[in-house]
Amino acid sequence: MVDLLPPGSIIGILGGGQLGRMLSVAASRLGLKTHIFEPNQNPPAGQVADKVTTAPYDDLAALGQFAASVDVITYEFENIPTAALDHLENLRPIHPNRKALASSQDRIVEKNFLQNLGLNVAPFAQVDTLAGLQAALQTIGTPCILKTRRFGYDGKGQVRIDDIAEASTAFNALNGAPAVLEGFVNFEREVSVIAARSQNGEVACYDPGENVHRSGILHTTTVPAQLNLAQQTDAVILAGRILNALDYVGVMGVELFVTKQGLIVNEIAPRVHNSGHWTQNGCLIDQFEQHIRAVAGWPLGDGQRHCNVVMTNLIGDDAYSRDANIGLHLYGKDIAKPGRKMGHENRISPISD
Ligand code: AMP
Repeated sequence: MVDLLPPGSIIGILGGGQLGRMLSVAASRLGLKTHIFEPNQNPPAGQVADKVTTAPYDDLAALGQFAASVDVITYEFENIPTAALDHLENLRPIHPNRKALASSQDRIVEKNFLQNLGLNVAPFAQVDTLAGLQAALQTIGTPCILKTRRFGYDGKGQVRIDDIAEASTAFNALNGAPAVLEGFVNFEREVSVIAARSQNGEVACYDPGENVHRSGILHTTTVPAQLNLAQQTDAVILAGRILNALDYVGVMGVELFVTKQGLIVNEIAPRVHNSGHWTQNGCLIDQFEQHIRAVAGWPLGDGQRHCNVVMTNLIGDDAYSRDANIGLHLYGKDIAKPGRKMGHENRISPISD
């Protein structure tokens, strides 16, 4: 049996962006407190958390004080420096675990892990040099996408290659960073499953959502996704297999390409996920509360959906709506830079529609 952290306990969260903010709100609804660790000043999560430490991830003394002040540690992004984690994990439990982080920080490690589970991924090849890219292009063919192995997000660190003559331009665009060449998947749609696993090993999945991107950034997530029953079942079962294989605790986002040949896993994110924001207005227990429950050793809520939802991200200076049937979520960021996620809206409608 697992020790359940009682109300009043403190959850440490690495990262103070909007995900940390929404995790803090969910924790406070359960009577739990949060302490944010974030290198940047005035993080969005700082406005709603109980405590904020502003320090870089290589400040071991600050990390130590942070760990000493919390009961458990979680994170809102996957690119936490390894040395920080090495230090923290000797001091407090960290959920999700290191294996989950390692399997998602590097695209090659991630794809090998998924393939070893028997899941389908896009054809891929490791690329470290221009000559290596040219060789990989011979096996993978075009069109294809060259991606940095690490630190990519919102379509950053990626170049599409339509012709092998573009090899050196593409390689230079990534500044020689270790990369992976991926065959272009001719998908019918993109969906994601937001799945959770508790410390006792129970798994709960939300209905798959259908994702549309604009300029590499998530634009909308729609539930229900247009999937037949077999695809829906496959999506949920494969997410459960990933969580079990990692002995995972917390919420994970599993991004999938839907093709005529079946589901292909694009990537996994060991944290609450933008494509799960619809759960805030579509489910009794949303992804943020679900994650907090899992890391605090509480039983999971069920992920049942009670309405249809279209989640739209508010990016840069996108105007937001004041419609009565729209749940508005703003992140408290004062400067609306292009491409910056400022908030999102959940438009709900009855399931019978
Ligand atoms: P990623 O950062 O890997 O999630 O990629 C961002 C977006 O680029 C995805 O959501 C897809 O729309 C597109 N994309 C990435 N990889 C591929 C691929 N191998 N084939 C087709 N589209 C892709």
